[in-house]
Amino acid sequence: MGERQSPIGVIGVGYVGLVSAACFAHLGHSVVCLDVDEERVAALSAGVIPIYEPGLEKLLEDNRERLRFTTSYGDLLSACRVLFVAVDTPPSPSGDADLSRVRQVVGEVAERGGDRILVMKSTVPVGTGGHVLHQLRARGADGVHYVSNPEFLREGAAIQDFLEPDRVVIGATDPEDGDRIEALYRGVDAPVVRTSVPTAEMIKYASNAFLATKISFINEIANVCEGVGADVRTVAEGMGLDHRIGPHFLQAGIGYGGSCFPKDVQALKQLAGNSGYHFQLLNAVIEVNQLQKRRVVAKLKQRLGSLHELRVGLLGLTFKPNTDDLREAASIVLAARLQGEGATVGAYDPMVPAGAHPQFPGVTICGSPEEALRDADAAILVTEWPEFQRLDWAACRELMARPLLVDGRNALDGEALAAAGFEYEGLGTADGPVGGDLESVSSGRPDGAASSAGGRR
Ligand code: NAD
Repeated sequence: MGERQSPIGVIGVGYVGLVSAACFAHLGHSVVCLDVDEERVAALSAGVIPIYEPGLEKLLEDNRERLRFTTSYGDLLSACRVLFVAVDTPPSPSGDADLSRVRQVVGEVAERGGDRILVMKSTVPVGTGGHVLHQLRARGADGVHYVSNPEFLREGAAIQDFLEPDRVVIGATDPEDGDRIEALYRGVDAPVVRTSVPTAEMIKYASNAFLATKISFINEIANVCEGVGADVRTVAEGMGLDHRIGPHFLQAGIGYGGSCFPKDVQALKQLAGNSGYHFQLLNAVIEVNQLQKRRVVAKLKQRLGSLHELRVGLLGLTFKPNTDDLREAASIVLAARLQGEGATVGAYDPMVPAGAHPQFPGVTICGSPEEALRDADAAILVTEWPEFQRLDWAACRELMARPLLVDGRNALDGEALAAAGFEYEGLGTADGPVGGDLESVSSGRPDGAASSAGGRR
């Protein structure tokens, strides 16, 4: 098939597709990118990057002559034989992954047939490869083969993760197809896991579900720490030194968010249920994650009583630092919950422009952290952007009506803040009152309207 000669196709140029395209170009391949979003394609063709990802603008610029953008499947398919699919697979109302975009792509490819390999980078339920092949064969596209190549990159570190991954997973029915895809990664120094399509699909879901489990586990440990006067940060450090556990994903906080963990954990739970298995553990992982946001609100109420007509400043809105992605961000749930308690919410995030924002109805998005904290009765650090560590907190204290700060990521120096006059509280850090009303949160059900942290949008 001469992949070195024929360009690689990438279908869907969002966070995964655009980073993959730029990195394949960096590895020396020509890449044709297709997206149905005409504005996005026009912007990219003009050198304007529609998303924020550190280093991406430069990588695209450096490899400009090897990259081309189009909205035409005819154009893409006349040029490319290997097609990486990186369209979004958002959650459907049932919790299953919504594969409508994948089906659109398969339909377009099936219509034109040819001798090709469709390589699935999107996260899709186990069994999707089989369904896609069935769809292709039913439409007479006998020359289109299928490979599963799940993506593990993290937004904010996506380029490094793509070029220096912990592993490359390739699931193929025909070993020659797997060889062809593996060859495209030449220049990437990582173990390659070669396996069947369903196993590759499962590796992706199991990995994300395990990471989410680690987060919910340490969050539960944090909650117990608060009741017994232990400090979860040191507990996590002590646990993480055990090589069987490892130090990663043991940062207690307000829980996971983003476009992947909530939907993938839910989708795996759903997948298990659809196959007749009740995945007990994942139910708890999801519930704990939802309750963490309630705990933060409960901490404010414990100190302030009713939040009615109080003003709360949120620092950080994106689901994590170094991205502009707001999908399933904890801030969305928190803002709604606080407003549900009658509070007025002001917020600041370096990636979210000041003014009104459709994801945050009723919230005033401010142009600076100081503005978000002015006259606030309390503040919550939601996203651990480095700039919040460098804030002039003494000056901020003077701006606030009451210097109460809940650090939802345990990212700030609590002792220094207390010395600066703040009522500082982390999560599981023994800064706050031990036990108390928060007990009721740990036994409560996350069935409140605004508590669907990992829920659908
Ligand atoms: P995204 O929403 O940022 O990008 C998806 C792109 O696909 C959009 O530009 C959209 O316009 C385009 N698209 C939709 N339908 C299309 C079609 N029929 N033809 C062509 N283009 C179409 O999504 P993302 O965050 O890049 O995620 C893509 C997939 O990768 C998902 O399955 C996700 O679960 C998975 N994933 C994401 C991450 C991450 O950190 N974002 C990491 C690993 C895996």
